[in-house]
Amino acid sequence: MHVVGTAGHVDHGKSTLVRALTGIDPDRLREEKERGMTIDLGFAWLKLPGGEEVSIVDVPGHERFIKNMLAGVGGIDLALLVVAADEGVMPQTVEHVEILDLLRVHRAVVAITKIDAVEPDWLELVHADVEEYLAKTGLAGAPIVHVSALTGNGLPELVAQLEASLADTPPRPNLGRPRVPVDRVFTVAGFGTVVTGTLMGGELAVGQEVEVVPGGLRARARGLQTHKTKVQRALPGSRVAVNLVGLSTGEVRRGQVLTTPGWLKPTTALDVNLAVLAGAPHPLLHGAILTLHTGSAEVEARVLLLQGNALAPGESGWAQLRLMEPVAVVKGDLFVLRTPNRTVGGGEVVDPVARRHRRREVGLIEGLEVLRKGEPDEAALALLEARGPLEASALAERLGQPLAALRPTFEAMVADGRLVKMGDFLLAPSAAAGFASAAQRALADYHAAYPLRAGMPREELRSRIGAPPRLFPHLLSRLASEGALVDRDGLVRAADHQVRLSEDGEARAARLIALLAAQPYTPPALGEMPPEARLDAEELRALADQGRIVLAGDDVAFTPEAYAEMRDRVVERLKERGSVTVADVRDLFGSSRKYVLALLECLDQQHITRRVGDDRVLH
Ligand code: GDP
Repeated sequence: MHVVGTAGHVDHGKSTLVRALTGIDPDRLREEKERGMTIDLGFAWLKLPGGEEVSIVDVPGHERFIKNMLAGVGGIDLALLVVAADEGVMPQTVEHVEILDLLRVHRAVVAITKIDAVEPDWLELVHADVEEYLAKTGLAGAPIVHVSALTGNGLPELVAQLEASLADTPPRPNLGRPRVPVDRVFTVAGFGTVVTGTLMGGELAVGQEVEVVPGGLRARARGLQTHKTKVQRALPGSRVAVNLVGLSTGEVRRGQVLTTPGWLKPTTALDVNLAVLAGAPHPLLHGAILTLHTGSAEVEARVLLLQGNALAPGESGWAQLRLMEPVAVVKGDLFVLRTPNRTVGGGEVVDPVARRHRRREVGLIEGLEVLRKGEPDEAALALLEARGPLEASALAERLGQPLAALRPTFEAMVADGRLVKMGDFLLAPSAAAGFASAAQRALADYHAAYPLRAGMPREELRSRIGAPPRLFPHLLSRLASEGALVDRDGLVRAADHQVRLSEDGEARAARLIALLAAQPYTPPALGEMPPEARLDAEELRALADQGRIVLAGDDVAFTPEAYAEMRDRVVERLKERGSVTVADVRDLFGSSRKYVLALLECLDQQHITRRVGDDRVLH
């Protein structure tokens, strides 16, 4: 399947030529009919003599509607550049050719049309002029055909040339990642919402679940059409109309992308390589605000140059585009930047979900160069080094390839130690080592600051070392299995950390334990201990962590022996009777209500007993 897009100055005869070639009057808005001018995109198709059906996107030529031209020109295989014989090369001929160049559409057939309206020697002059102009552009050497849509002169030659030029145009690749940049949304009575666009990256099938990105709304493709004919399956590189169930027309708009659910993430920061048009009147300045056109989307963008303060006309360089609204793009997507009045430049998305950079950051440009040109393994490492850990699926997405295609590369890299795998995450070895030493440092600091605490709360450690939440459990279990730390009951400690009381604290602890042991079932309240046996809350916690006392509530502690004995006797009694009351337990130990409540609550917490009304039963 191939898509041909028209290009050329307003009124040069694009729509008339499409009609003459295809017999199809592309759908038009009423306003267009009234004004006799193409404002938005038109669609038609042409059956070539050899049998191939080619889609044709007819674009507006007027400078005010360049944005609509841009929404349709993405994904075309070949341009049909239309130049009126009576006028020759005009401003939007030039701007369209510049845009085709920026979008890397280097295949074109040139139709010099309206030849019925000029003399032969004039035609010769225009022909030479067009040829000379194109020689300096990406369309240099494109075949030129003379036609008249009015008389039909030259039309068979034009069709033959289109067929010849398309014959050596490779089909669009199937990457298993279908995307339809939406260029039209409308309602069909009895069917509901229909969106159209040029399908790329993969196939779409009837019945498939789809997602609209940005926005993330889901729907089902109830029907598919190509060239107004129902199909069960649409191939990459074809024009499709998708009938959606589950979305109203108000929920989809031009600029969004229809795709399979789950993988395509909206973004507001892109790292790009961009070129400023040689014919631009001014340099592009750091911080400039321009309109970004990519796919069918159009959003305001601030251009942050990553090197220097300006890019002169004809120069190219690295930049980050900060977008005012999210778009859905992948690595390798092409874009154009415009002011309201003219095209300034454009280029290629290299990192579709970019982090913020410091300018003149060491290694930044080198990393981006590798990402743009490098082999997948080099690019993966460059990306991970720049970005920190990524899940394999996200890494593949940044690299612009399906995970299935990259998995063998990733696995080989993990096997030979060039990548570290933790759960679904992949890390550069330097990042894995960095997390390990950051964790060790954080724990050492924590233990020094709080020597009496058993360990650092997990979440505190995670945020200290800046590990992604989904990565952190894998990092902990890896470090624990390497013996670097111990992760228990939500607390993390260095493997060699031991809670130790001061000498004076030890002396008070010994007294306190002796006092508890003297009245095992009715121990003195912690708050009423004599000064030589008084421990603060932190010291008590440490003693409990060491297993030397059992804390039951704020003011009650038992010796571990007394606690174990009471626990066993309560359990024994429960086995005999099924349930016990607070009074039963009190009588069992000759204790008082206060201690029994503390004990039972402790047993409840440990899931040994359970409260049912006023009774306790086994858990
Ligand atoms: P577009 O803006 O490039 O799509 O131009 P249109 O297709 O709307 O054509 C602009 C004008 O040129 C219309 O008035 C057409 O009738 C006229 N036109 C188009 N093709 C020819 C042609 O081959 N010969 C002559 N004489 N007029 C043409």
